[in-house]
Amino acid sequence: MNKVIAANWKMNKTGSEAVDFIAQLQRIFDGKRPADREVIIFPPFTALEKTALSADDVDWVQVGAQDLYPAEKGAFTGEISAEMIRNAGGCIVLTGHSERRHIMGEDDRSVAQKTLFALQHGLKVMLCIGETLEEREQGLLRNVLERQLITAMSFDAGALSDHSFYVAYEPVWAIGTGRTATPSDIAEAHALCRGIMRSIAGERAFSIPLLYGGSVKPSNAGEILSLDNVDGVLVGGASLEADQFSRIITA
Ligand code: PGA
Repeated sequence: MNKVIAANWKMNKTGSEAVDFIAQLQRIFDGKRPADREVIIFPPFTALEKTALSADDVDWVQVGAQDLYPAEKGAFTGEISAEMIRNAGGCIVLTGHSERRHIMGEDDRSVAQKTLFALQHGLKVMLCIGETLEEREQGLLRNVLERQLITAMSFDAGALSDHSFYVAYEPVWAIGTGRTATPSDIAEAHALCRGIMRSIAGERAFSIPLLYGGSVKPSNAGEILSLDNVDGVLVGGASLEADQFSRIITA
């Protein structure tokens, strides 16, 4: 399976900054596809269409949204729909990112609704899961991962097409803190995730890309990508500069 290198820009970059980024990335790779890599970029909503348009002729870059609202349309001020994302050129959406869970107060139920809705409405999904430091210290790692995965994977996994569903394990204490989980922390959590995914989706679980996220940078990406059960990385801070991000792509 190609390694998946995903950029979560969070609340950063205007449309024109995004266009510059894609142009730089193309220059760095001289218009060629990096070997064995699949790249996904999640810009903010306001830059989605411009990012998607400028990545249109870059066949190794996919573009997606950071969130969606699970309804077709209507009186949901401030929200955007699956159709709006697709119409702006997005093909994938993040669900359950820890900043949505912990800053915006999203719970497992709403993450599950969004995940199901997106899959049913023509979008791929990258579901984010992960424990807080407090949960880890209380020995609750397995419980939290089980609860988050079982609640969100409420769809028929057998009906999934290849690479329409991704899982990103991101320990909350490692996000934006500069504190990366150790290789053994990552290997342990990824083995747990894969086991839980297998109990939900059977053998299908082995074709669901499982990414790691949390303070990934050029200096640690290679080691993380070489671990068992790590099919890619989801990168926040270090994805904002094309030069740094390209070094993660080739790590
Ligand atoms: P970080 O963010 O790389 O800045 O830690 C990762 C994420 O939140 O997806």
